[in-house]
Amino acid sequence: MSGEGTPARKFPLRLDRIAGAAGASSRLPELPGSPSVAARPLLRPQRQVANSHADARHRSAPAGLGLDSAGVRARMVQRLRAGGIRHEAVLAAFERVPRHAFVDAALVTQAYEDTSLPIGHGQTISKPSVVARMIELLYGGANAQASGRLVNVLEIGTGCGYQAALLGTLARSVTSIERLKPLHDKARELLAPLRPPNLRLVFGDGMLGHAPNAPYDAIIAAAGGASVPQAWLDQLAEGGRLVTPVRDGGGDGQVLTVIDRHAEGYRRSVHEAVKFVPLKSGLAR
Ligand code: SAH
Repeated sequence: MSGEGTPARKFPLRLDRIAGAAGASSRLPELPGSPSVAARPLLRPQRQVANSHADARHRSAPAGLGLDSAGVRARMVQRLRAGGIRHEAVLAAFERVPRHAFVDAALVTQAYEDTSLPIGHGQTISKPSVVARMIELLYGGANAQASGRLVNVLEIGTGCGYQAALLGTLARSVTSIERLKPLHDKARELLAPLRPPNLRLVFGDGMLGHAPNAPYDAIIAAAGGASVPQAWLDQLAEGGRLVTPVRDGGGDGQVLTVIDRHAEGYRRSVHEAVKFVPLKSGLAR
């Protein structure tokens, strides 16, 4: 891994509080209905986090920032709760995954605000309230309701990997696809210190889904097109649920769309307006 063996850099974020570096007291709580891997600490000691990035020098936050990440994350979770998110496992995942580790140093003070942030290559990390809403919707699928948890999940649009990390703590198995090679690589690096073994990152065109791991009980897309790709419908399990933005009319507007697959066919429901980056076909290196 690049950067290994270089002297420890000062990384002022209080990652040690959540990093599992100091033994049992820093271990993360087990999530309700989560796989056994969820009991493991999500991050290694902070030095390894900083060193795990190829561009760690540029990513290190300015010295003296002193952000107490566990505290600000808890406040973000309070706001999610106040905003109507009710699912305890979803809230616990947000409490647990360090969003600041997925954004550039210059944006780190905004990491726990309810805002989307640029992640490079013209893409954005979605705002926490929307991510939480979409994951909560996944729990409303028939299979998720029957088992009380997310089982086999497909994410389209890995981006920086934040949502993949959340899903990794919640589901038995997650496949996440990204079409932009630099972002796929970046997510791999950012997730390396905390990547649970149940998360598989794929460089590919998510419009084709990922047939080898289908069928999926849950499919979640972080990019929206004019229609829902047929591959997603085909790869959705019976009892499965798909949550995606879909372009609404001819303009830029999108609506959050939920599709449930039943024995007798598909049922679609349309929810609130959202704003996601466009779903594009093909790969880009
Ligand atoms: N979930 C991400 C959000 C990333 S933004 C996060 O937590 O950071 C949406 C991502 O979808 C972008 O990275 C974009 O490149 C990707 N995307 C768009 N069309 C895609 C496609 N056909 N296949 C895979 N990824 C796609």
